[in-house]
Parts: sequence; C-alpha cells; structure tokens
Amino acid sequence: MADCLFCAIATSEIPATLVLETERTVAFRDINPQAPTHVLVIPKVHHPNVAALAAAGDGLLEEVIATSHAVAEAEGVTETGYRVVFNTGDHAGQTVHHVHAHILGGRSLGWPPG
Ligand code: AMP
Ligand code: ZN
Repeated sequence: MADCLFCAIATSEIPATLVLETERTVAFRDINPQAPTHVLVIPKVHHPNVAALAAAGDGLLEEVIATSHAVAEAEGVTETGYRVVFNTGDHAGQTVHHVHAHILGGRSLGWPPG
C-alpha cells in the first residue's frame, strides 16, 4: 500500500469516484465537496506540490491543467465559470502533500477566498 493517499488513489489501491483519466493524470470527486462541481486532478506520479511539478519540466503540469479544463467541460461549467486552485503549504490549507488541482464550479464562488 502506498503511504501517500493520492498515490494510492492513482493506483486504485484506494477507491475514488473517477471523472476522467489520461495516461499521466487522474480526476476524481473530492470526498468533501465545497461546490456542486468539486473535482481533484492529480498527476499519477508523486510530486509534493505545484512548484515541484513545475520544476520537473516534463509537460506534466500542462497536462494537469488540460485535464482540469476537460473536467470543466465534462461537468458543463465552462460557460458559467470555474476555479482551478493549487493549495500550497500550511497557510493555503494544503493537507495532502501530493499535488492536486481543485476544480470548483456550479455556483458563484466569491472572491477573495476566506
Ligand atoms: P488540500 O486541503 O488542498 O490538500 O485538499 C485535499 C482535499 O482532498 C480535500 O478537499 C479533501 O476533502 C480531499 N480528500 C481527502 N481524502 C480524500 C479521498 N479519499 N477521496 C477524495 N478526496 C479526498
Ligand atoms: Zn503521492
């Protein structure tokens, strides 16, 4: 069993409700949704945060973003709008240290965040 929760979801050791999957990314529903659409997009390989993913320089960050937009299209929120969030570090509330994009939509989200 992988000792990282999202590595375990990527390998299906832990179940999740999948929305989309590509060769290098997986999108699944957040277990504690904060909006009608709340999907997480991860690379299958482990990086602790978006900075590490960007530093890898292998196009995977772009693929995570592309999958995020594909999720928004599949959820039907591209017209009404959606938010892509990478919580990074303690002050942002990052609790899972496997990089993940939150895709939030389906309601007016407000700004700034609380
Ligand atoms: P963050 O606080 O940005 O690290 O986000 C972690 C997210 O993972 C939270 O929104 C949690 O609700 C979500 N989460 C935790 N465990 C699971 C799980 N087993 N399946 C799906 N989402 C999860
Ligand atoms: Zn991981």
